Amino acid sequence: MHRGPAVALVASVVVLAGCAPSRAPAAAPAPSTTTLTATTPSATAPLVTPTPKPSRAPVAPKTVRVSPKAPTPTYRSLEKKYLVRNKIYSAGLVPAVTCALPEIALTTRKEVQQYANAVLGCLQRAWKSVVERSDVAFFSAKVYSVNAGAKTRCGILTKEVGGFYCAAGSGIYLDWQEFVEDNEYDRVWAGVYLQFTMAHEFGHHVQQLVGISEYYDERSERVKGALGLQEMRRHELQASCFASAFLGANQQTLDLYDAKFQAYRDAAYSGDDDPPASTPDHGSRKSNTAWAEAAFTSKSPSACNTWAVPAQRVT
Ligand SMILES: [Zn+2]
Repeated sequence: MHRGPAVALVASVVVLAGCAPSRAPAAAPAPSTTTLTATTPSATAPLVTPTPKPSRAPVAPKTVRVSPKAPTPTYRSLEKKYLVRNKIYSAGLVPAVTCALPEIALTTRKEVQQYANAVLGCLQRAWKSVVERSDVAFFSAKVYSVNAGAKTRCGILTKEVGGFYCAAGSGIYLDWQEFVEDNEYDRVWAGVYLQFTMAHEFGHHVQQLVGISEYYDERSERVKGALGLQEMRRHELQASCFASAFLGANQQTLDLYDAKFQAYRDAAYSGDDDPPASTPDHGSRKSNTAWAEAAFTSKSPSACNTWAVPAQRVT
């Protein structure tokens, strides 16, 4: 989520886990927006606490998004098992939970934290059974509202990045001031955008729990260039897709109708096309819209197998 050029995105570390979704414009003309990408270290195994590793060079920002002959990934056996045929795809619906979010405006760090905690509680209650039906243990994530520049277990949370999931410690880090700024601009947008951001970052937590991130991270060590970027989009589109499955399942309790539903769509559909991000790592508007619509409607991670589709669906 970031405004301003997505600088050296991909401060990637060996293994990565997550970053914030794109920041879509709210109702009025928005300030320049961009996508950020903060790749962060993640665990080497779903249930093992990882050690953050050093950064590697950023992915070339000018990679062409779609080439006429987009490369198709080939997977090794365990990669097929965890990425393409993960049990989460057949784990059933994300349940509707009772989710009472506080009726507060996001004007202070404390309020952003309070709201984010409430959203996190809903996410955990909803995803726990789905994760357990995928035959892995569920454990909680935490959310931290921090200042831009804060040091985390996955490195500095920069203003450009805005937020990310850090597998080390299962923490979601948010630049709380972004939401306060959004709130000054449009309160409905700020609340829904925080919901979507949390749901996206929690999507990375789910990927971590079920072993997807481990194999994605491992592949990212050897899959570079256009194909590497395409795989980043598969990973990010899947986190956003999981977010939409949760939000669709909980549309009623979250009251995602009318202006709130429009705000959800602005957040979920934009990808990094609006405006064009320097690194196409979160997916085009077309791809984001397609995955989001399918997941919101089906309320199921079965609609989120971004690893099994042709490159054209993860542009
Ligand atoms: Zn992400």
